[in-house]
Parts: sequence; C-alpha cells; structure tokens
Amino acid sequence: MIRGLVNWLLGGTASMPGRIPESVIHQIRERVNLVELVGQQVKLRRTGRNWVGLCPFHSDGKPSFSVNPERGFFYCFGCHEGGDAISFLTKLKGMSYVEAVEALARTVGIEVTYEDGGDPAARARSKERRQVLSDLLREAHAWFRTRLTSPEGREGAEYLVSRGVNPAMTSAFQVGFCPAGDGLYQHFTRRGLPLNMAEELGLIGRSRSGGFRDRFSGRVTFPVLTMTEQVAGFSGRSLPGGHDPKYLNSPDSEVFKKGELLFGLVQARDAIKKQDQAILVEGQLDVVSLHQAGITRAVAGLGTALTEHQAMLVKRLTHRVCLLYDGDEAGRKATWRTMSLLMNQGLYGTVVRLPDKEDPDSMARKEGGPELLVKLIENARPFLEHALEVLSGGAGRSLHGRVEAARQGMEFASQIKSALDRQVFTEQLADRLGLEPAALKAEAAVSASSGAAVSTVDAMQEIPRKEIDLLELAVQFPEVVPRICRDESFDLLENDAVRRFLLALFDQFEEEGRYDLQAAMNGVEHRGLRDICGKVLMDDRRLPPADAERGVREVMSSFKRSRLERKMEELSRKIRVTESSGEGEKVLELLREQEEVGRELAALAASRRN
Ligand SMILES: [Zn+2]
Repeated sequence: MIRGLVNWLLGGTASMPGRIPESVIHQIRERVNLVELVGQQVKLRRTGRNWVGLCPFHSDGKPSFSVNPERGFFYCFGCHEGGDAISFLTKLKGMSYVEAVEALARTVGIEVTYEDGGDPAARARSKERRQVLSDLLREAHAWFRTRLTSPEGREGAEYLVSRGVNPAMTSAFQVGFCPAGDGLYQHFTRRGLPLNMAEELGLIGRSRSGGFRDRFSGRVTFPVLTMTEQVAGFSGRSLPGGHDPKYLNSPDSEVFKKGELLFGLVQARDAIKKQDQAILVEGQLDVVSLHQAGITRAVAGLGTALTEHQAMLVKRLTHRVCLLYDGDEAGRKATWRTMSLLMNQGLYGTVVRLPDKEDPDSMARKEGGPELLVKLIENARPFLEHALEVLSGGAGRSLHGRVEAARQGMEFASQIKSALDRQVFTEQLADRLGLEPAALKAEAAVSASSGAAVSTVDAMQEIPRKEIDLLELAVQFPEVVPRICRDESFDLLENDAVRRFLLALFDQFEEEGRYDLQAAMNGVEHRGLRDICGKVLMDDRRLPPADAERGVREVMSSFKRSRLERKMEELSRKIRVTESSGEGEKVLELLREQEEVGRELAALAASRRN
C-alpha cells in the first residue's frame, strides 16, 4: 500500500506509464551493490560488516554515515537520513522514484516493466513513441548547439557575449541557437524524421502559407533537462528587437510538463545539497548569471507560478529555499504566492528584496554585484519576518487597511505548519497592526477550518522503553510483526508513530507477502523512531529467531500485565465505593470479576516461567 503511494507520489506523473511491479523493484534491490553505488559519492571505510563514511546529506565532521551491504540499507546517525539504493538516488540526485529505479535498472542490466492492466501491445507502442519523441529532442538539441558555433549562429553568440555569458556557462547550460528561418525543419526533412511529432513537441510549426517553420526561429535555446539529464524541451530567448514573447517554452506534451520541471536543477543539485539551500529566481538568464557569479544553487521555474510538483523537486534536495525574485511589483506578488506554497509543502526559507528596477541578472553583472548578492542572500529575511513586514508596511493607518492586512495575514498563517510559529506570527502581527491578538485568533480559526494547517506534534512524542524493545525486534525479525499487530494488547502501545510504523509493515505483509522496511520508513517522520530502526539495521549482532519470538511474547505480555494490573486497581476502587454504599449484590459481582482478573494475571505469570 505504502509502496504504491510512494510510487504514485514520486513518480506517477502522467508521462510515466503505469506502476513498476514489486518483483522488478525487488530484483533491482537484490542486484545493486549499495557499497559500490554509495562509494561513487562517498569515501567508505569498512568496519565489521558495515561501511562508514562522511554523510553526503549534511555537513558531517565525523563519519556518521553507515552502509549495511547485506541489508542494502544506509543510515546517518547525524541527520537521520536512511534508506535503500533507490532512496539514496532520489535523495542525492533529486530523481523521482521511477527515475531512480530506471537508472539503477540500467546499471544492473534489468529491463523495467510497468503494469497498469493495459494492453501490452499498446504499452509497447507508447514506449516506442516516447523514444521517438526523445530522439527528436536530442536531434534538435544537437542541431541548435552546432548552430551556435557556426557562422549562421553569429547573432546568437553575439547576444550571449552582450549579456556577459561566458563560454563555461554556455557549455554548462548547453545553450544553443536556432537561426531565423526553417533550418531545423529542413534538417528533419532531410533525415526523414516524423514531422508531425516534431510539431507536437513544438519544435516546428505551421507558417501562414501552410508550410513549416522553426518555432524557436531567431532564439537562443536553453534546454530544460530532467533529473536523469535527458532533454525534455526548450526555453527560447528572443534576441533584442525579436519576436514576443521574450521567453518561448516548449508546449506541454508527453515528455514536457512545465509545472514539473525546473530550469538549472541538474546543474545546481550538487551545490543545493552541499549548501543545503536552493535559490529560486524567475528567468533562465538569472540562473545562468548567478551560476557565473559563483552562486551555483540557483534554479528557475518555466514562466509560470511555482507548482507543488516543482516544490517537491526542490524538497528532495533541501528544505531551505531563498526567494530571489525581480524587484518589481510582479516579482513581489510572485514572492508572496511562492512563499505560501512552499510553506504549505513544509519548506521554509528566506526572501531577498531587490531594489525596484533590479533583477538577479542585472545585479550579478554589476561591478561588485556578485559580492553584494552573496551578502543580500546571507542577510535575507526569514519568510515569517518578511510576511510581517509586507503586511504591516502595506496596511497603513486606517482601520480598514489594518483589518484587511489582518485578514490576509491570517490566510497566510493558515499555511504555517508549526503551531508555535503560527502563534508567534499571529501575536506579532496583531502587535504591529495595533489590533487585539484575540481578534486575529478568531479570524485564524475561520481560516484554519477552511485551510490546511497540520500540526506534526507526534513527530516528537517520546517512545517508552518497552516499545523500543518491540521495534528493535520487529526491524530485525519482521516475521514477528503479524504476531505483534494481531495481539490483543497491540492497542495498548502508547506511541502513535510506533503503532503506525508496525501497522504499515503488517499491511505490506498482508498485501504483498513480504516486508519492505524502506517503504515503511519512508512514512516515518519521528526521528527517534528512525534512529532506532537505523541502529538495528546497522547492528551486526543477531539474536537467534527463537529469542525474538520469546522477546515479543514477553513484551506483549507485559503490556497485558500492566493492563490487568490497572484493571485490578480500578476494581478495588469500585469495590470500596460500592461497599460503603451498601449494594451487596453489586459488590459480589465486582469481587467475582476481580477474581477472574487475578486468575488471568496468575496464568500470565505461569506462562512466563515456562
Ligand atoms: Zn547525515
């Protein structure tokens, strides 16, 4: 169930055909050598059965990162990241689940199949179709690249020079040029490529006279890459005095979805991981200029408002975002919208407010600009502070203005996930607007009932010792999980996260006939719980299975014992009360009940001795 959900969440875009069967994923996990895979990124040293090294997911002073090749699992005791080969790639490279599976499958020579109950012939045709589309994009890309360095591309090359783009950046971002006319169309025709499909991809289009023309004609081309570094489409920048719009994107198609891609993410992903922050800007040239100025963690959307899907792409790499949008009104509006969206996705960050007529590109190209930008980014305002400033700054003194700002503020507050942050924000806003906090809270209650404020309190709930014992047994010997979950005392477990985790494992077993710790752990936010699982998975020592059975029996019976003891006390109390009220019949009944509980306790004690 969880695997399906993860599959759907991370990879199930409309462009991805169906679901990958468990058996294929299992096969891939079996064959991948996790030490080798991790070793490409991290220097690992052997200790016992495990390998350790510096964690690639946080800046690690001592080797906190362990790999257990036998179990195919990694875990970091510093930042609590953990998982298998697939999640290693999704976390490190920002790939989707499906992309990571495909990438691993290629390295171990397994062909990935998809299931969706559809007709296999149709599936094969669709796969073939996607292949042709990809080939066309690659062909166009190569053609654009060559034009830029040929005499036909002089205009484009000169434009890049005028914008201060250096050759290293042209090559890093694989910039190309499409000369005015129908050169690409001619090229496709000569090679006998399917023109209707090139038209679907928006590479060529019908001219008024009914013939074909190049859609990116007279534009500098920036390829937009997927996380597996395939060209998904293009963004074409017109030259000064050229056609509108300034940036023309490939139209949405089977292989290109504007809302699901970020420009520059492939080039920026290492820096984003290393510095644990992504910088979001508006335009392609902003990205290129920032990278050239040494700020290499910048990415941009594709001309539309940031989507949840794009936020998720960033979230795979970092939880911290800096918004560096244009200084004009449109940029400010976009900043506000994006801030809300990111917070709603659990991402936090800061905002840089640029002077009115500036954008990141213009700033980066100024004398001393890069240094100034670095400073601005370092001193950027946290989201909540920025929001307070905008709201109180725009409110003015009139009551109407202040009330309106309060209303906007509470709508914004409903996106804040942490209850504490929400409270502090509300109080500060009330203070700045000169309104009663209680009034704002009342307004917030209205917003929250329609909004999606979720608290994550249980991520901190402490795990009782007995439940830790149980978890350790369950992780080491998943086969005891059904015994635990079916036990009449299961509901006596106090920690919700532990109960959910065990039930997730149980569900997998019921539905798929096997356990997938990785998938079950994906759903866990509780750090203590993650640590316990990580420790067990990295532990060399193994209990004999018989001991595991006995361990579970003991823990579960101790839950039962506690429950019976509580019941015993409760009955004693009731008996005292009933006695004093003189209801003899009732007392007798309670005494009988107590005797029964006593027998159960004795039986429990006897079974322990055996
Ligand atoms: Zn770490």
